[in-house]
Amino acid sequence: MYSNVIPGMVGSIVAAAFVVFLFKTASTHSLKLIWFVAISAVMLIRIGDGLVWYLKLRHTEFDGQAATNRFVLGAVVTALLWSTYSVGFFDTMDEAQFAITLAVLCSVAGGSSTILAGHKQVSVLFVILLLAPVSLMAVFSGQNYHIYLGILGLLFCVAMSISALRTSSLVLETIKLRHENSQLVETMNLEIDQVDEVHQKLSNAYDKLNDANSSLEKEVERRTEEIQELSSLDPLTQLYNRSAFIKQLLKTVKKSTDRGHSIALLFIDLNGFKKINDSLGHKVGDAVLVEIANRLGAFANDYQAARWGGDEFLMLIPYADKTTALSVATALQTRIAQPLDAMSNQLNLTATIGIAMFPEHTSNETELIQLADFAMFEQKKLRVNEPRMFTHDLFQNLKYVEELRSGLQDAIAKKQLYLCYQPIVCCKTHQPRLFEALLRWNFNDGLVRPDIFIPLAEQSGLIREIGAWVLNRACIDASQWQHSPDASVTVNVSIIQLQDDDFINVLDKALQTSQLDPTRLHLEITESMFADDKDKVRETLDAIKSRDVQVSIDDFGTGYSSLSQLQTLSFDIVKIDRSFVQNMQQGGEAIIRATMFIANEFGSQTVAEGIETEDEAQKLSDMGVDFLQGFLFAKPMPNDELRVWVEHRNVTIQANSTD
Ligand code: C2E
Ligand code: CA
Ligand code: CA
Repeated sequence: MYSNVIPGMVGSIVAAAFVVFLFKTASTHSLKLIWFVAISAVMLIRIGDGLVWYLKLRHTEFDGQAATNRFVLGAVVTALLWSTYSVGFFDTMDEAQFAITLAVLCSVAGGSSTILAGHKQVSVLFVILLLAPVSLMAVFSGQNYHIYLGILGLLFCVAMSISALRTSSLVLETIKLRHENSQLVETMNLEIDQVDEVHQKLSNAYDKLNDANSSLEKEVERRTEEIQELSSLDPLTQLYNRSAFIKQLLKTVKKSTDRGHSIALLFIDLNGFKKINDSLGHKVGDAVLVEIANRLGAFANDYQAARWGGDEFLMLIPYADKTTALSVATALQTRIAQPLDAMSNQLNLTATIGIAMFPEHTSNETELIQLADFAMFEQKKLRVNEPRMFTHDLFQNLKYVEELRSGLQDAIAKKQLYLCYQPIVCCKTHQPRLFEALLRWNFNDGLVRPDIFIPLAEQSGLIREIGAWVLNRACIDASQWQHSPDASVTVNVSIIQLQDDDFINVLDKALQTSQLDPTRLHLEITESMFADDKDKVRETLDAIKSRDVQVSIDDFGTGYSSLSQLQTLSFDIVKIDRSFVQNMQQGGEAIIRATMFIANEFGSQTVAEGIETEDEAQKLSDMGVDFLQGFLFAKPMPNDELRVWVEHRNVTIQANSTD
């Protein structure tokens, strides 16, 4: 209502001026002027009220009821003033004046219905106050023209009232809707605010959760690392264990491949650790391992040293060439060799180190370890206190050994094995009294030496089968030696064979098949054999002796066992090792004399091996050795050559004796 007040009031003033100043009647003019001033004043007050609303109240929490009351009051006063005019001056109006006045009133009423639409009752009241009194007066005036206009006025009043009611309803509805809308918008805004707030809270919570999550993740990561660390460490030495080391090796290999660097891998094996463990106990052994691990650790950080198992360690040296690797390994050996204290035991320990290089020797990680291990193993055989760098020759050797190992499997079936015999002559009579059977293997059109393939056969257990073949063959050959019917055959027997329960059966079968007189059979065993299962060996030896088969102790003086073996097991022959004969000048003679003394004490005869010169033969004869064996007399030869050799020798001796 207030928003339309100014144009409405201005319109009213114009309309009022129109009716006052259009028809000037001298008698009423001053009254009309007073009326005009009055209505103008009311209009101005209402404009003022409107301006106050427009400038001050609008957009504020103003008192709606008071403003409405003021407005309604203004409207009612205005309507009454208009009514006063039309009713008051009715009698002075001619037909035209009345028609125009009525028209002005109708237009004011029409305008008001819009302006007052905000207030239903007032908008209707305004129309009625404006039109009804003057129209009724006209209807009852008795003048025809006035009556028509009066009826028209009344009709218009009714129509306008209805229209005002409707407009008002519409406007009120609109206002209500607008109000509701604005409330809705407000609620919506409020809700949006709340949603925003909730959203903010949610996002805060999300951030917090994220933080918590990431710290949880970090915690899990840390724990996992810890667990991994624990599971990848060797519990005793705190060095990396096998699997962790291989992982580390893979990483380093990858890095080095990308950058074109080489890596050295050291395989470190302690010497004589088993002895310490056996003699001083596991606790001391553990203390030794821990100390060695510490010494290794000082050379490499944790990621590069590992305990491979038992007394074996690995060390990885990234970015190393061969020279660096060898000098690190040498330094390591020196450090390990320094005296160590293990639970108050002063110990001296050495280590053998093998080295393999990536990628020169192999680009495969597990093979790298194998090759370093292999180099170490080879070096250990040499008993040299120097690190050993892997070479491809060594590898060829390894491959060759593998080839031999598998070739040996069917050596018997393929008839690749045969025996050679080497005569052993009597010092006094110069007659060959014994022939040692020495095994030969014809493999891939070449001869393989027995000291190469016999250990292989022993490792694979194949020695039982091969040994049985040798024993059988030797017995048959010897039983057919018409050239030397009284000479004996000596057969080398491995420890593995002696420990085999079936050995005595094999022996009996060979004797039975060949019908060889058991006294013509000698079995040669090596002294070192007694280091193992002594009781079993003694039992087998007793069984052998009970069959009248002779037993020789081979390579005497080179083994580890004590001489007391000679006492408990009576040997028929002690064979003095070739090395003492070859080194007679450098102390060998003393050992030979000692050996002969012991042999004589136990009633054994002696054979000196490896006689190559007349001088050696003479010396040993003079020292009282019973038999001689060596290239001076004959190299080992196949059975048919042996016959030729013996017959030829007999002829020579006969010729010499007739001279
Ligand atoms: P061993 O029993 O000590 O055999 C003697 C070795 O010395 C033989 O080598 C023989 O050829 C060699 N020899 C003999 N006289 C001389 C000499 O004057 N100078 C030099 N430099 N060497 C001489 P071989 O035949 O190569 O046999 C080596 C080893 O193989 C044997 O040593 C023996 O331990 C083993 N062996 C040979 N045949 C058999 C077998 O049938 N069974 C078992 N278990 N071992 C065997
Ligand atoms: Ca021998
Ligand atoms: Ca020997």
